[in-house]
Amino acid sequence: AAWEKAVLQSSQRQEGGQMTVLVTGAAGFVGSHVSLALKKRGDGVVGLDNFNDYYPVELKRARASNLEQAGIFIVEGDLNDQNLLMKLFKLVHFTHILHLAAQAGVRYAVKNPLAYVHSNVGGFVTLLEQCKNSQPQPAIVYASSSSVYGLNSKVPFSEDDRTDHPASLYAATKKADEVLAHTYNHIYGLSITALRFFTVYGPWGRPDMAYFSFTRNIVEGKPITIFQGPHGEELARDFTFIDDIVKGCVASLDTALPSTGSGGKKHKKAQFRIYNLGNTQPVKVGDFVSILEKHLKKKAIRNIIPMPSTGDVMFTHANVTRAKHDLGYNPSTDLSTGLHIFVKWYKSYYKEGAGHEDMLKGYKPY
Ligand code: NAD
Repeated sequence: AAWEKAVLQSSQRQEGGQMTVLVTGAAGFVGSHVSLALKKRGDGVVGLDNFNDYYPVELKRARASNLEQAGIFIVEGDLNDQNLLMKLFKLVHFTHILHLAAQAGVRYAVKNPLAYVHSNVGGFVTLLEQCKNSQPQPAIVYASSSSVYGLNSKVPFSEDDRTDHPASLYAATKKADEVLAHTYNHIYGLSITALRFFTVYGPWGRPDMAYFSFTRNIVEGKPITIFQGPHGEELARDFTFIDDIVKGCVASLDTALPSTGSGGKKHKKAQFRIYNLGNTQPVKVGDFVSILEKHLKKKAIRNIIPMPSTGDVMFTHANVTRAKHDLGYNPSTDLSTGLHIFVKWYKSYYKEGAGHEDMLKGYKPY
């Protein structure tokens, strides 16, 4: 079939390439960026995405068309489709899986809790089962989230801190994934790395996230809503630029050890790792808006309200010592530089027509 031919072509390594990677969520924000970075250095890359309409599908299609121009094919399908996964894994021997597909967002869980269970729990287990049944088993790197730190947190957040008090259903499914991942690691010998991303922003980003809707509302002259804690405290986030996250993902793939194919004490232990990928510089949302105003050369209309109980935490702050040591991760983009790049993209994408070329032009091999 035509899709099989496209998959085979997309999975071919070029000079310099070491891995054949399945990227789930490849039409998503992070997935599209990492796919391009891997392809650029010669790795074989095949995408999988269900193009759901959680946020405008046009943006996912535009990212996918960038990937297509770079020679990356995205299989359109759901993680929960066992037959599709089976066919795909039969066709291509993936050395690595970069699993980024998920139902993201904290607040949407109030409206549609089962979407989180479907993709983040059901889809994750379906994928792990497929990896478990493959011979040899691929190494898996996947996106967890800073939200797992929930309400227990002392600052900054370290990987060994307690994560047993999630503040949202989204966080609960991400925590469930870490428990499931650890179980598949110790009973089936799968090599698994969980990356706890901290508020990722940048070009081709997610319209459902605050930095994006703030930008849109300021440009359109509409008010923005800023949440405040019960004692007037401001929310703070450890905003992390997409390029730094891409480097962290690529370094995690590069340092992933193969699965051992067998769990239990008698056998060689497979690798299980958890890393924070943040920027280590939390910024109050009010200050964030001021930087945005500077780059947009326009004042925001600020509407400050008490934080609703929809699962947002007051602050996030990553300790990245472990990722620095093991992955050479070193976040290097400060918020003002990152927002400058984001605003430039935003204006060209929405004002001057969809700038498909941009995404490819901006890409340097990592
Ligand atoms: P995104 O929504 O842009 O990308 C996820 C992609 O997965 C989407 O294109 C979606 O269509 C696809 N998808 C969802 N469910 C699927 C399913 N069942 N089958 C197939 N495809 C499916 O999100 P993102 O910002 O790129 O996030 C990537 C990963 O990082 C997610 O796991 C997210 O939870 C995690 N994460 C993101 C952030 C952030 O700030 N962006 C922070 C922490 C964690």
